[in-house]
Amino acid sequence: MRILLVEDEKKIASFVERGLTEQHYTVDVAHDGEQGLYLAQINPYDLIILDIMLPGKDGFAVCQELRKENNDAPILMLTARDDVRDKIYGLDSGADDYLTKPFAFGEFLARVRVLLRRQRPGKTNLLRVGDLALDQVTHLVTRAGEKIDLTATEYALLEFLMLHAGEVVTRTMISEHVWDQDFDSFSNVINVYVTYLRKKIDAGFPKKLIHSVRGRGYMIQE
Ligand code: CA
Repeated sequence: MRILLVEDEKKIASFVERGLTEQHYTVDVAHDGEQGLYLAQINPYDLIILDIMLPGKDGFAVCQELRKENNDAPILMLTARDDVRDKIYGLDSGADDYLTKPFAFGEFLARVRVLLRRQRPGKTNLLRVGDLALDQVTHLVTRAGEKIDLTATEYALLEFLMLHAGEVVTRTMISEHVWDQDFDSFSNVINVYVTYLRKKIDAGFPKKLIHSVRGRGYMIQE
């Protein structure tokens, strides 16, 4: 899941970025409204975290502009002021949720999960494909009840495949939702990571879950 964080206070931005990265999210950071808007226009983010007080264009303006362009990525607004008018204006500008700084990081992560979950039918944090299970809160992955250790990138790739179980996932989709803006589109890194995942998920099981779809991409299904 790829998240855009728009926050001008460098200390907060790097704290939040680190926390999200530890949770295996892919994060791009913008330090002003213009850059945030630009990144949101060129990348399909799964979630945008938008500070209100930003140099250049403020969070309200960025939010309004994205909604006007029919960008429907979930938006979580952050503000330093606990002002009910800000809250109302933020939600009316098209934000989905609102959090006042300073916030408890646990609550922040729970709200992130709620907004990411809202985009799919099953509103649970437990993803399942056959006997493979992935818990989005604890990051525990098991197959037939046995724990599987994954790196952060392997986890993010598996989570993305499982969120689209039964559908063909193209390399472009993977690069847009699992890798950040430094992704090199000429590299074979996706194939490499799919190979790593297969070794951990499918090796030793008669029933393979990860399938290649010739010329199109990959699919996970029972
Ligand atoms: Ca700010």
